[in-house]
Amino acid sequence: MKREQPLLFELGAPGRRGCSLPPLDVPAKPINELLPPQMQRQDPLALPELSEGELVRHYTALSTRNHGVDSGFYPLGSCTMKYNPKVNEEVARLPGFALLHPCQPPESVQGAMELLYRAGLYLQEITGMDQVTFQPAAGAHGELTGMMLIRAYHRSRNDQRKVVLAPDSSHGTNPASAAMAGYEIKEVPSDERGLVDLEALRQLLNDEVAALMLTNPNTLGLFEQDILEIAAAVHDVGGLLYYDGANLNAIMGHARPGDMGFDVVHLNLHKTFATPHGGGGPGSGPVGVKEHLAPFLPVPLVEKGEKGYFWKDDLPHTIGKVHGFHGNFGVIVKAYTYMVMMGAAGLRRAAADAVLNANYLMERLKNSYALPYDRRCKHEFVISAREQKKRGVSAGDIAKALLDYGFHPPTVYFPLIVEEALMIEPTETESRETLDRFAEALEEIARLAAEDPASVLAAPHTTPVSRLDEVSAARRPRVCWTGNRKSD
Ligand SMILES: *Cc1c(COP(=O)(O)O)cnc(C)c1O
Repeated sequence: MKREQPLLFELGAPGRRGCSLPPLDVPAKPINELLPPQMQRQDPLALPELSEGELVRHYTALSTRNHGVDSGFYPLGSCTMKYNPKVNEEVARLPGFALLHPCQPPESVQGAMELLYRAGLYLQEITGMDQVTFQPAAGAHGELTGMMLIRAYHRSRNDQRKVVLAPDSSHGTNPASAAMAGYEIKEVPSDERGLVDLEALRQLLNDEVAALMLTNPNTLGLFEQDILEIAAAVHDVGGLLYYDGANLNAIMGHARPGDMGFDVVHLNLHKTFATPHGGGGPGSGPVGVKEHLAPFLPVPLVEKGEKGYFWKDDLPHTIGKVHGFHGNFGVIVKAYTYMVMMGAAGLRRAAADAVLNANYLMERLKNSYALPYDRRCKHEFVISAREQKKRGVSAGDIAKALLDYGFHPPTVYFPLIVEEALMIEPTETESRETLDRFAEALEEIARLAAEDPASVLAAPHTTPVSRLDEVSAARRPRVCWTGNRKSD
């Protein structure tokens, strides 16, 4: 087992320094002349005292504890942990992009504005939408923006609709975003195919419904094949269709939400367009709309005029701003680089390969795990540990056991409609060898669950810590160093 990494406060020794400053080359002033005595610290600040080497080793050791797409397979369903091409980082780091200030006059940032403009055109083409805003900082933020746009649209027509519909397979952010925008949520059940139950949807539709939020392919990785009928039914009662674009990577270049009848979409650049998640940088959740929603978009929008690119602020019906300035620009640079490097054919191929990889794994794993919806999947699929659960081994236990094989576990317990769900998304860049190794690990865990469940329940064995007390960690988090690890 790996040794626990001590805290910085537990390392080093009094008086040790990580840097040496040059001697003072100006006359020293008495401290009281610089700072009144009542503002001076009486006791020295309790800072860790370490050499540079100790410090570097500490942080390097911590950095290796993190599993990322650059350290191993990361099949986290729904999150789309794509490989992040390094050329994206290089381009985003170019001084002409990295050193800009958002308040610079437009004539001094024409190149950056052109990039935003062109990235918008590409996303319009890929989604089949008419206008795009880059302000939202993530998918959920895009959902909220989309819901605000939908509300503004209905209100502009003196229509006070109150209800937003979302399937029972939807991501938790869908109902949360609609609720934040002031809507009441109603759940649409899935049918035995794992798709929207069209009859149940029709029952829920009336002139109170502002929108239906849909992910396509849905969170089971299944394509909503009735989408044209669904769209017609929602539009018939005056509702709008919101596309959660988290799964667009399965169909980009092959099918467009705009052609399916969607009125608003969000995209997750940190999923579909290969920019890093979380720790690797902020996200970006651009929102695209059809023409009838464009007057409500956040301002400013970048536009192309006779004298170059300019910021358009005068949108009388705008919902206002949802983010400072123009969104997370660096992320957009990375996503733009990705789109340019891939080209239209490359993006189509990425979607096709993601689907191929998912189906390859699904076909193999259905021999050792239950497959609740045994149909051709798109970029991800959901298996169930319900058979293993009979021997006491849950989806969570299987996730823990996978850590010993060096894999990041898949998403567990989502979507909610599958018991003991394991949601697997391999992505397009993984080789067949990696997929086979991952399948072998899951097959071995299934065998152990049948023959020696205790060994799975005790996993992981090779990580710095094994089973954490997750309840105490959530209920009584210790976020301060008190000088004594064992005391509480
Ligand atoms: C990831 C995800 C979201 C939320 O996106 P964030 O960028 O994480 O805010 C919404 N819906 C689905 C289906 C997702 O997978």
